[in-house]
Amino acid sequence: MSLEQATFNSQTFDQYVMPTYGRFSLAIDQGKGCQVWDTEGKTYLDFVAGIATCTLGHAHPTLVQAVTKQVRKLHHVSNLYYIPEQGELAQWLVEHSCADRAFFCNSGAEANEAAIKLARKYAHTVLNIDNPLILTTHASFHGRTLATITATGQPKYHKNFDPLVPGFAYVPYNDITAMENAIAENPNVAAILIEPLQGEGGVYPGDLDYFIRLRKICDEKGILLIFDEVQVGVGRSGKYWGYENLGVEPDIFTSAKGLAGGIPIGAMLCKEFCNIFQGGDHASTFGGNPFSSGVALAVLKTIEKEDILSNVIARGEQLRKHLRAIAQTYPDLFTEVRGWGLINGLQIAPESDLKSIEIVKSAIKEGLLIAPAGAKVLRFVPPLIVSEIEVNEAREKLESAIQSWIQ
Ligand SMILES: *Cc1c(COP(=O)(O)O)cnc(C)c1O
Repeated sequence: MSLEQATFNSQTFDQYVMPTYGRFSLAIDQGKGCQVWDTEGKTYLDFVAGIATCTLGHAHPTLVQAVTKQVRKLHHVSNLYYIPEQGELAQWLVEHSCADRAFFCNSGAEANEAAIKLARKYAHTVLNIDNPLILTTHASFHGRTLATITATGQPKYHKNFDPLVPGFAYVPYNDITAMENAIAENPNVAAILIEPLQGEGGVYPGDLDYFIRLRKICDEKGILLIFDEVQVGVGRSGKYWGYENLGVEPDIFTSAKGLAGGIPIGAMLCKEFCNIFQGGDHASTFGGNPFSSGVALAVLKTIEKEDILSNVIARGEQLRKHLRAIAQTYPDLFTEVRGWGLINGLQIAPESDLKSIEIVKSAIKEGLLIAPAGAKVLRFVPPLIVSEIEVNEAREKLESAIQSWIQ
């Protein structure tokens, strides 16, 4: 691999960029497939994929072609006009999901904002609730805007940002009694916003029984069921959408991260009965522009044409087998492996001193990128095109990382 020799100085970077992220001390400036290179030329196997975002990996020929083709043709106009690529993308999404309509924006938080607004309008105009309440779950993650940090059931994201947005309450995840009680106590509950699998909160898949009962309660009470598919959607779970693993359909769902393989985009989709936004109700300057829509369409068609879901299922099983073997080798350090398809978590024993970030740092030294999901979970979210050989390599590097942490 020939590298343009970059000179990178993290001190200069830190002088000008706000310190909002806890960054690891490497700068990545090149990638191909499931590999990336840092500015010193070191190679890493990428099991982060821009946090479950680079669906087709790096510099995939389809992505390169879609990006260049669309920029040459037309990259941006405005939703003042019809955008053919946006219409085609919406059609693909509707034909490959339970939804009937799509709205486009630029990120996961914005997609959830759109869902929250739609749910509130539905509460006011259809349910006749003046003061609607949206229930979300503990350890959830829904984004970093004010409404979506409020929706996020983790106090650490709220600290110093109050007053928060009114109209949210929290219940434990996968706990149907808690949900039933919250609904019984609050006649204003208009919607439930929930991840089919909690990503940032620690890779906790939803229970089948829980979600089936959730769907039933929502149907009985006329409550909207909204799924945040921002991390688990677009093939990552081994199916197009996370909810397909749970045997139920949402009324509204959101997508972003992997939708255009790393080009910024977000989408909020809903069924026809709650398709109640009218002209002027919601908007986004960049949302669904020819560029992001054209690229998303190319990514989705590639997933379909190349049967990438089969790879996700096979590589996911392979990876979980390796992770279980590692957990068995180090029973004092690791207790459990959780996940669907290519979103998997390795749980660190609560009583051990080990923190996820320490193994993440040790893995970086071994040339493997993985991400923490909270203080005690290691998260594995490689590109969906990851190969059998690469999954085996990841296991070897992870074992070396654990060994060197122990020593
Ligand atoms: C990442 C994430 C978001 C926020 O997406 P952004 O694009 O960072 O705004 C929302 N929900 C879930 C489940 C996520 O994983």
